[in-house]
Amino acid sequence: MIRINENYTKLKASYLFSDIAKRVNAYVAANPDKPIIKLGIGDVTEPLPQVCVEALHAATDEMADRATFKGYGPEQGYAFLREAIAKHDYAARGCAIEADEIFVSDGSKCDCGNIQEIFGTDIRLAIPDPVYPVYVDTNVMAGRTGANVDGRYAGVTYLESTPDNGYVPSIPATGADLIYLCFPNNPTGAVATKAQLEAWVAYAKANQAIILFDSAYEAFIRDPEIPHSIYEIEGAREVAIEFRSFSKIAGFTGTRCAYTVVPKALQAFDSAGKAHSVHALWNRRHTTKFNGVAYPIQKAAAAIYTDAGQAQTKALCDFYLGNAKLIRDAMTSLGYSCIGGDNAPYIWINTGKDSWAFFDDLLNKAQVVCTPGAGFGKCGEGHVRISAFNSRANVETALARIAQALK
Ligand code: PLP
Repeated sequence: MIRINENYTKLKASYLFSDIAKRVNAYVAANPDKPIIKLGIGDVTEPLPQVCVEALHAATDEMADRATFKGYGPEQGYAFLREAIAKHDYAARGCAIEADEIFVSDGSKCDCGNIQEIFGTDIRLAIPDPVYPVYVDTNVMAGRTGANVDGRYAGVTYLESTPDNGYVPSIPATGADLIYLCFPNNPTGAVATKAQLEAWVAYAKANQAIILFDSAYEAFIRDPEIPHSIYEIEGAREVAIEFRSFSKIAGFTGTRCAYTVVPKALQAFDSAGKAHSVHALWNRRHTTKFNGVAYPIQKAAAAIYTDAGQAQTKALCDFYLGNAKLIRDAMTSLGYSCIGGDNAPYIWINTGKDSWAFFDDLLNKAQVVCTPGAGFGKCGEGHVRISAFNSRANVETALARIAQALK
C-alpha cells in the first residue's frame, strides 16, 4: 500500500493569509462602497527596471536565432551572472567569494527550503520566532521535529525576537547545529550589527555549526554600519551559507531569480566524524534536482549590475523605503513603538493588544489590511507587520485613514 510521508501530518496548516482573505472578503461583501487598501502583502508592486526589460527583450531575440540560441544551460547559472554577483555583491564589499561558490536559482524560498536536505536528520535546529515560515515547515517535512504543541514544534530551539532584545535574538543556551538567521528580517524589519553577527559566527565556529543567513532584503540597508553580507564577518566563509534574491531588489517576484552562496571552505561531518565539503554536496543536489534559470531571466538579472541597473534598482528600493518612512513616522506619532522600515521594507508595530484584534480594528475602521504578527510565530503576538510594497498614493491614503481611525 502506498503510504505518505507522515511528517506532513505534523504541519500546522498556515491559516494566516487565508484567514486574512476570509475577513477581508466578508468586510468587502458587507461594505461594497468602502475600498480596501492592502498593506499586508510581501509582494512588490512596481514594474521591472528598464535595464532588465531591455535585457529580457534582447535575450529573447537571441533565443530566436539559430546562431545565438541556448538550450540547457549550466545548472549553477551562467558565468556572466555568477561573475557579476561575485564582483559587485561580494568583492566590492571586501568579501572573498568566488564566482563558482555562487549557485543561481529560481528563488530564495526554494533554496532556503531545500538546503536542509544535505544535512543529517538528527541535527539540532535553531530557528527565529517570529519567522519566515519556510525555515520551519521544510524541517518539519524532513522529520527533524516532533509534533506541534501550542504553536511550537518539539525539537526546535526558537530564537525569540522580542522588544526586550530589540528583536535580534541572542545565542541560545541549548546547542544548535543548523542556525537560521534573517537580516534585514521578515517580518520584523530588524537588522543585526556587526558585533551581533560576529557573536553568531564565533558560536558556529566553536560548535562546528552552520549558519543559514537569509539576506533577501539586503538591498534595503541604508545604515553604513550594518553588514550586508555574513561574509563581511571574519571567518564566516567556514561557517555560513548565504541566500540572496532579486525578488525585492528589482521586482523579480514574478520573473524569478535568486542565488545561494556556498563557500568551498564550508565543511560538515558524517557520523564517523569525517569532514565533507558542503559545496560539493550542494552542487550534487543542485545539478541533480534543478535545471537552471532561463537564459533571458539570467540576462535580465545581470543587467542589474550595470551602472544604469545599479541606479534603477537603488531608486526602486529608495521608493519603497520612502513608503516605509511614512508608515513608521505615522505609526510612531500615533504612539506605537515600531521597528523596521529604515533598513527594511517592513514595519513591525508593537500594538499593545491582540494582533488579530488590531487587524480587525484597522480593517473595520480604516479599511486597511495589515498582517497579524501571531501568524509568524508565538513572539509575533501583540504585533502587526505593515509592508511598504505599494504605490505612494495608496500608502498616503491608508495612513490618513489610520490616523483618523486610531487617533
Ligand atoms: N526569504 C525571505 C525572508 C523572504 O521574505 C522571501 C520572500 O518573501 C524569500 C526569502 C523568498 O524570496 P524569493 O522570491 O527569491 O523566493
